[in-house]
Amino acid sequence: AKMREASVQKTKTVCTYCGVGCAFDVWTRERRILKIEPHDGPANGISTCVKGKFGWDFVNAPERLRTPLIRSDSGGMGYGVRGTGYGSAPEASGDVPGTPHPVPASPEAETFREATWDEALDTVARRMRAIADEHGPDSVAFIASSKATNEESYLVQKMARAVFGTNNVDNCSRYCQAPATMGLWRTVGYGGDAGTMDDIRAADLVLMVGTNTDQSHPVLAAHLRAAQKKRGQTHIVADIRSHLTAQRADLFLQPKPGTDLIWLSAVARHIFDQGWEDRAFLDQWVNHESVYRESLEPFTLEFAAERTGLSPEALRDAAYQISHAETVCALWAMGVTQHKMGSDTSTAISNLLLATGNFGKPGTGGYPLRGHNNVQGCSDFGSINTYFPGYQKVEDDEARKTYEHAWGVSLSAKKGLDNREMIDAIHEGSLKALFLVGEEIALVDADAHHVQDALSKLDFFCVQEIFFSKSAEFADVVLAASPSLEKDGTFVNTERRIQRLYRAMEPLAESRPDWEILTDLAKRLGHDWGYTHPSDIMDEVAATTPLFAGVNYARLAGYKSLCWPVAEDGTDTPLLYTEEFHLPEGKARLYPLEWTEPSDQPDDEYDLHLNTGRNLEHFHVGNQTHKSAGLNSIVPGTYVEVAEPLASARGLDTGDWVRLISRRGAVKAQVLVSDQVRDNELYMPLSSAEHAVNYLTSSVVDPDSHTPAYKELAVKMVKLDGP
Ligand code: SF4
Repeated sequence: AKMREASVQKTKTVCTYCGVGCAFDVWTRERRILKIEPHDGPANGISTCVKGKFGWDFVNAPERLRTPLIRSDSGGMGYGVRGTGYGSAPEASGDVPGTPHPVPASPEAETFREATWDEALDTVARRMRAIADEHGPDSVAFIASSKATNEESYLVQKMARAVFGTNNVDNCSRYCQAPATMGLWRTVGYGGDAGTMDDIRAADLVLMVGTNTDQSHPVLAAHLRAAQKKRGQTHIVADIRSHLTAQRADLFLQPKPGTDLIWLSAVARHIFDQGWEDRAFLDQWVNHESVYRESLEPFTLEFAAERTGLSPEALRDAAYQISHAETVCALWAMGVTQHKMGSDTSTAISNLLLATGNFGKPGTGGYPLRGHNNVQGCSDFGSINTYFPGYQKVEDDEARKTYEHAWGVSLSAKKGLDNREMIDAIHEGSLKALFLVGEEIALVDADAHHVQDALSKLDFFCVQEIFFSKSAEFADVVLAASPSLEKDGTFVNTERRIQRLYRAMEPLAESRPDWEILTDLAKRLGHDWGYTHPSDIMDEVAATTPLFAGVNYARLAGYKSLCWPVAEDGTDTPLLYTEEFHLPEGKARLYPLEWTEPSDQPDDEYDLHLNTGRNLEHFHVGNQTHKSAGLNSIVPGTYVEVAEPLASARGLDTGDWVRLISRRGAVKAQVLVSDQVRDNELYMPLSSAEHAVNYLTSSVVDPDSHTPAYKELAVKMVKLDGP
């Protein structure tokens, strides 16, 4: 995969941004990135989007961490008061709810000093061991990174389980797609996309719910546009915002916020009422139909029309088209999952696919579109509080024995804390130490003030990162890690496709790949793992994890890839459920549902609904993309979209500054008058660290997955004289 021509090097890599998993060659001369050249990636063919093509300057950004840092007021031994002494809060005026929070000056702020790797890792080992010894193994916790490789995620959970004896390990799928995984587990058995990009391209009808695919998964959107244009593929799009994906839909449904479960269930009920269900498929492959149909009783078209604002005609049309199309794929994302009913609404989508026989054949199935490049792999490889790698329950004696034997330790059968429970446990005082890998928890978790308060209470906090993040401000030790271009490993994309990435350049300065840091730390804690290359880690995974039994680096060489489950002989599974479902009796399950009102609804005081999401050019809070000059010049800051009638009623124009105030906090933003939002609904992209929308969001979670209800957010909007 690597070719040298003079000093120019061509290396195969996989994109570090979204879950499409585009593969391409990166041309470099030492640390200079000359070009990105799409080759023939299994997911992307010869396409890339603006982020994949131009979003790489961050690897050379001056802000990159070059050495480990230690909080100097702790001398590496104590833990001082965090979150103080950095400056004033961005929104600290008396009338604003929420506590003031610090603004970073720079990593060179007096609070931190550079340290050697020996000193930093010795400090982490000593402090975490002391806390675990004094307060028990469950007083420490680990959060893995969906930007890091599978091998690194495996090591994070191995560190938690084998070295510290706790299942307190989780990852950021808790913030986005855990509800989708739950919906699929309940109904069809595997928590991953049913098929591949080929299936999505081949479908006769694609239903997209709560996904702005054009901006969040751009290369997939390009393939969808081509299928729509060339083959007449039908697109039904449902979203509260009339974004680009919605604008080119054949049928666009624009329900009121928080009502997707209602219209999905009404469409399913109408299909049964009309006798349009796939009777043969249901009889052969699906259990629990009658209890599900009973639960559909309340969801008449009239009830749905009243609650969702959609017309009965539009719902009938959707029901007819979905039930009469030969093959249907359903795509969904955070517009569905980030609600109090995220798991149930994901389940409703899967129910609808089952009712119409749309699993197990090419061009069908459920496809939660994974956000980060490796958010799928991070859970697959075990960085999740309830499962060993490959979704083997920690309570399962057989699974535990396998890892006890492989790792030479005894393991805990007690379910660990997930990300949200960790924050609560820190506030309660039972969780004392946190090891955070490549995750901007201080801004990305909901109710950022509450999260930052928790981080400031930790006895010990280690952050492993490529930049000095907001979360790092609260750390005792910051470990300088490497981004994907500087390491070998594998990622899993949204299709369950495992792909190899190769090191394109040496780690910057003294930064190190995460797997090396973790291996070194384990050694200081008495566990000599002995890995010399990430392939050693993958071999260990394959030997212990049935889902990955046949995965090895030879089978992933260059542009080769494997979709899990992978049998020992290397046979992979691009399309799931062709022979049976992954549930008892090999049958799928229709799952009964009820609807409840969303949380944090607008009222007289907080009179507007604020929706959040991505834009094309930036990724999440922009930790990487804002450090890529090419992307920053296109869309530099943040903004809030306001519908024209609302803007004119409030005397607002594009470019005006407003303060958005929720029941928890306030942020500033510039107005963008837009026809993509309507009525009292606003939209704000995630891509701002300084004015992060999560200072506004609440701690309410979906009870089934503990994913925050980010999209249930009432605010008031106040015009400002200037920035
Ligand atoms: Fe990267 Fe996603 Fe763009 Fe592909 S579509 S280049 S994976 S951001």
